[in-house]
Amino acid sequence: MSSTLRYEIDVLSADGLKGKVWLYDDSLRIHVGKEVYVFDLEGRPIFIYYNDRLFVRGLSGEFVEKKWLSVRPHRRFLRRLRDDEEKRRIVEYTHWRLGTILNSVDEDEVTEVIDRVFDMNYWRLEVDADRFRKIYLPISILPPDQYLSLVLQPVIGCPYNKCSFCTFYRDRRFRIRSVDEFREHVAMVRDFMGRGVLIRKKVFLADANALIADTDLLYEYMDVALEYLDHDSIEGFYAFTDYFHKPKGIDELRKLRRKGLKRVYIGLESGSDDVLKILNKPGPSSKAVEYVKLFKKAGINVGVIVLIGAGGREYYDDHVQKTAEVLNMMPLDGRDIIYLSRLKVREESPYRYLSLKYGLTSLTMEEMDRQISDLTWKLKFDPPNSPVVAEYDIDEFVY
Ligand code: SF4
Repeated sequence: MSSTLRYEIDVLSADGLKGKVWLYDDSLRIHVGKEVYVFDLEGRPIFIYYNDRLFVRGLSGEFVEKKWLSVRPHRRFLRRLRDDEEKRRIVEYTHWRLGTILNSVDEDEVTEVIDRVFDMNYWRLEVDADRFRKIYLPISILPPDQYLSLVLQPVIGCPYNKCSFCTFYRDRRFRIRSVDEFREHVAMVRDFMGRGVLIRKKVFLADANALIADTDLLYEYMDVALEYLDHDSIEGFYAFTDYFHKPKGIDELRKLRRKGLKRVYIGLESGSDDVLKILNKPGPSSKAVEYVKLFKKAGINVGVIVLIGAGGREYYDDHVQKTAEVLNMMPLDGRDIIYLSRLKVREESPYRYLSLKYGLTSLTMEEMDRQISDLTWKLKFDPPNSPVVAEYDIDEFVY
C-alpha cells in the first residue's frame, strides 16, 4: 500500500542548496542537496542521512549507522551507536539543519508536522523511547522487510528456544497472552504510536512463533488488532513460524489468510539434517517443504530463512547441496522471499561449544560469499516468477 502525497514544496537552505519537502499522509520527507530526513507524523526521526552517513532510529531509541561498501560481494558498514552523547548530537544537528532549510515553509498542514518534529527534541525522544520499553518486551529480531511494521506481541518468546545459534529469546519464558491481556497491549501500543502508526502499514505478530496459538485465538488477536487500527491503511498480518511444532491444517490456514495473514517467515536454516543436528533444530527439513506447500496452497506467502556458514567448512557441500534441493522442492514464486542470513556466533551461544565438539571450522566472509553464490546457482526457479533472494543481516536490525 503506497503513501499519498499531500504537499510538495520547494525549499532553499541557508547555504544555498535546493531541496524539497514532501508531506505524505503517513510521513514527512525532506531532501536537500544530498541530505535526506524522514519522520513519522508524530515527529520521530526514522532515517537521517547527511555527510554521507545514514542513521536509522528505532522506536526503542536505538540508532544504527549503515553504509553500503559494495553490492557484490555484499558488504555493509554497520554500527550500533552506544554513546548517548553521539545520539544527542545527531538529533540536535538534524534539528539545527532543518532550521536552516524549513523557514520558508508556510503551508499550515506542513508547518504543523514540522513543529512536531522540532518538539521531539533529544530529551522528548528519550522519554518516548522509555515509554516504548515499558509497553514492549524487547523486539529481538524481525525479517528485513518488516522493520517498518507495527509489531504486536500476542505471544511471548519462542516455544522451542533451544536452537544452538539463537539467543534472541533466552531472556523470557514462553507464554501465550489471553485476549484481554493482548487487548490491553494493543491499546497501549496504539496510544503510544499516535499518528506515527500511519507509516506502519503491516502488522507483525511477534515474538518467534505467533502461529503456535490456536487458530481461533489467532483470529481473535487479529480482530482485536483491527479494532484499534484503521482497516484501510493496514496491508496485512505477518509472523514468524516454525515447521516442527504441530502444523495447522489447510482450512485453518485459509481462514487466517481470509482474515489478512499475508506472509509467514520460516527458519529452514539448512536442508541438511546433519547440519540441523548441529544447530539443535528439530528436523527433518522435509517437514519444512510440506508446511510451505500447505501455506502456498492456502494463499499465504512465505519467507524462508537459510543460515549461510552453518556447519562450517566440514559441512559446506552437504549444506549447499541439500539446502538447494529442499528449496527447489518448495513451490516458491515471485511473492516469496529466500533470505540468506550469515551465521553470527554470539559469545553466549551454544553453537560455539557444539562447533568445538564437532570440530567445525568457521567460514570466512569470502567463503560465505562463495557459499551464497554456490547455493543460488543451484536454485531452479523460473524467472520472471522466481522468489526474491536477499541477504538478511541480523546486525542491521533496529525497531
Ligand atoms: S531459531 Fe527460531 S525456533 Fe530456534 S530458538 Fe530461535 S526463535 Fe526459536
